[in-house]
This record gives sequence, structure tokens and C-alpha cells, in this order.
Amino acid sequence: MSEHAEVVVVGGGIMGVSVAHALTQLGVRDVVVLERRTLAAGASGKTGALLRQHYTNVPEATLARISLEIFQHWAEYIGGDCGFQQTGMIVTVSTSGADAVNIEKMHRVAAMHQRVGIRTHIVSPEELRGLQPFVITDDIAAAAWEPDSGVVDAVAATRSMAEAAARGGARIRDGVEVTAIRVVGDRVFGVDTSDGPVDAPSVVVAAGSWSVPLLAAVGVVVPIEALRVQVAVLNRPFSMPATGTMSYVDTAAGFFCRNWGPNRTLAGVGGGEFHDVVEPDDYDERIDPAFGPAVKRAMSIRMPAMADATVLYGHAGIYDMTPDTHPVLGAAPGVAGLLLALGFSGAGFKKGPAIGRCLAEGIVHGRSQSVDLTPFRLERFEDDSWRRPWSEDEYSFSTDFGHRF
Ligand SMILES: Cc1cc2nc3c(=O)[nH]c(=O)nc-3n(C[C@H](O)[C@H](O)[C@H](O)COP(=O)(O)OP(=O)(O)OC[C@H]3O[C@@H](n4cnc5c(N)ncnc54)[C@H](O)[C@@H]3O)c2cc1C
Repeated sequence: MSEHAEVVVVGGGIMGVSVAHALTQLGVRDVVVLERRTLAAGASGKTGALLRQHYTNVPEATLARISLEIFQHWAEYIGGDCGFQQTGMIVTVSTSGADAVNIEKMHRVAAMHQRVGIRTHIVSPEELRGLQPFVITDDIAAAAWEPDSGVVDAVAATRSMAEAAARGGARIRDGVEVTAIRVVGDRVFGVDTSDGPVDAPSVVVAAGSWSVPLLAAVGVVVPIEALRVQVAVLNRPFSMPATGTMSYVDTAAGFFCRNWGPNRTLAGVGGGEFHDVVEPDDYDERIDPAFGPAVKRAMSIRMPAMADATVLYGHAGIYDMTPDTHPVLGAAPGVAGLLLALGFSGAGFKKGPAIGRCLAEGIVHGRSQSVDLTPFRLERFEDDSWRRPWSEDEYSFSTDFGHRF
């Protein structure tokens, strides 16, 4: 006999458990989350979980802002603890040569942030050195400072969100792999799993790069590549503050970093030779020998003392990259009842709670009420329109940082 649910969610990362939780909040309790390994076994367990608000387009800035509010007040919204730490966030973009146009854009982006409720201050190099005396700023004309932003413990947040969904009635089943999406005519009617079929009129696919073959088998083609990306944990030298640094997404120097426990920093580099396209089930999860030195080189452009940091360990994970680096959210064309939450392109964790809420609203009310998800629809890839920037203030990046803002 088949199991039955009102909604099946494929994938137990932050997206899957957020959709499940939001559904239970809206009164849909007959939800089952199917995770083939353990919760947060994919990108959600390997992420840096930096909660940057800095987007140059309104929809993603708003998703990041709503999510930050939830991370900040986790006990109230979700219950439990996600390990939120308000570190503050510094975002830099190159401002020299052809990229000088970014300064004006940054000011307009900060004004847009104010309109959507994000506190972003544009700081001069002197002001940045006042905030973080250990940085050098010769290469930038300005930086964006988000005093309210921070970081979370991504595994704790995913687990805690799943527990909240379970309290609301959702069944969280790990160790159960979805082997096929079942479609009759133009309607989804459930999934096949390693533990038998589950009938459901709605199926949400939130399985990162692993979603691609499942969807292709029912005629839904998603242009997603699995990109291997590395992060390392470094022990900071004594001259760096024991309390650590703000979180950085430093596209000018080419790194991102956050505090990772006492005297430790987690960091990665943007784009380039350390990002390679792989098979999501067959890639090297260790860091390359050259990766640690590359992280130290990039970080020491901004924080010279980090040239003397010690690389302790690291890992590689997967970004589910779309061609425009924006996610794919909402209905799968041609298959009624099938919903997509994928293609987060290395920047999904910070938006997870809001995306879960929006998708749940779509299932319950027919369309998302919190944020209009239309720009994220899969159909944008049917012609060349996806190549257009999502706002006129999208930054010009002369170096690849892995994703657009
Ligand atoms: C190194 C790294 C650093 C990052 N840093 C940041 C950051 O600082 N800030 C940020 O916002 N984002 C960051 N990201 C991106 C962020 O982690 C992801 O966008 C986010 O975690 C995606 O969540 P998800 O639930 O969509 O996918 P995942 O967490 O990958 O979850 C998908 C789940 O589906 C399961 N699954 C796969 N196939 C099946 C199947 N057939 N049946 C059942 N289950 C299945 C997998 O096991 C997995 O657990 C980073 C990612 C990486 C890899």
C-alpha cells in the first residue's frame, strides 16, 4: 500500500525543511520530507552560512531581509536555536578602472536597501579601517557595511527547522531516496522511493544538483551544473583580534570569510581555478593542496596578518549553478502540482526561511504573498532574456566571484 501525503518534499536541506515548516504554519500538516541521507548532508551541511543582505535586485534583497529577521529571532519564529551571531558584514566590489561605475551603483543599492528595510551603510576606506583596524583598503574606494547581518550554524538551523516542521505535523524521513517523480498526463501524483511509493498531489523538489536527473525523467529540463567549491578553516595569528572579524564578502580581494569558533576563520575564494564542474555523486570532498595558500593570499590583500594564519582543515561542497546564478523557484512548466526550489548557485542558505514561506504560500494560496516569485520562474531560460541583469545597478565584476549579486 502506498503512503499518502498532501505534499511531498524531496530533499532535507534548508530549503526542504523550510518549505515543510512553512506549510505546517499555514495549516498543511500532512507533509512528508524525504532525505536520502541525513538532514543537511548536502550543501546545507557544508555552507559558510554567511547571511549577506547585499543584493542589487529587490526580490533577492527582500528574501534575504525576511530570512535574516527569522534567523535573528529564531526562538520566536521557529523555536530552538540556529546559532545566529550578529557579526556585521562587509561587502566590497572592485571600484578601479572599468569597475569605477560600481561606486555609484553601490550608493543606489544602499538606497534600495533602505526602501526594503535593510540597514546598509556605505563606508569610506578610512571608516572601514576605523571599524576593522587590521584591514588595508588601498584597492577600494568604498565598502558596504551591514551592521545587522551575521552568520548561523547551518546544520543546527536545518535540524531545528526540521524539528519545528515535525512539531507542526510533518514527517521527516531520512535515509529514504526518491527514485522517481510519478506523473500521469500533465499532473504529478507522488514519488517512488527506496522505501515504497508516496502518493501526493503536490511535490516540491529541493534536492540541489541531484534534482536534475529526477526532473529530466519527467520532461522538466533545468539548466543546472554542479560546481565543486572549497572552504578552509584557518587558525588566526595572535596579532588578529581574538574576537575575530566581521563577516566579509570581499569580491575586490576575492574571498569570503566568517568567524568559525574561537580564533578560527572559515574562508573561501571567489571563482577561478578552485571552482570546477563535477558529478554531484563523484567529486573530491577534500580541499586541494594549493587551496589553503590561495585563501591566505586572497585574505592577506585585505588583512595582511592572515598571511601567517595556519590552515587547519577544509572541505569541498557543491553549488547548484544556474546560467544567471539566480535560483529557480515555483511551478515546473507542464506538470501541475510539481514545484521547484533549486539552482541556488552558492547563495541559498541566507534566503532559505523566506523561500520556504513563499513556496508554501504558493501551494496554499495559489501564489506567494510575501515576495513575487515570478522573476525566478524556470521559463526565463527558454530565450535569451535570462542574460539581462536583474537591475541596472548590478555590479560590473572584472573577476569571477562565482555568483552575481
Ligand atoms: C562551500 C559552500 C559555501 C557556501 N556558502 C554560503 C554562504 O555563505 N551563504 C549562503 O547563503 N549560501 C552559501 N552556500 C550555498 C548554500 O549552502 C546552499 O544554497 C543551500 O544550502 C542549498 O540548500 P538546499 O536545501 O537547496 O540544498 P542541499 O542542502 O544540498 O539539500 C539537498 C538535499 O537533497 C538530498 N537529496 C538529493 N537527492 C535526493 C533524492 N533523490 N531523494 C531524497 N533526497 C535527496 C541531499 O542529500 C541533500 O541533503 C554555500 C555552499 C557551499 C557548498
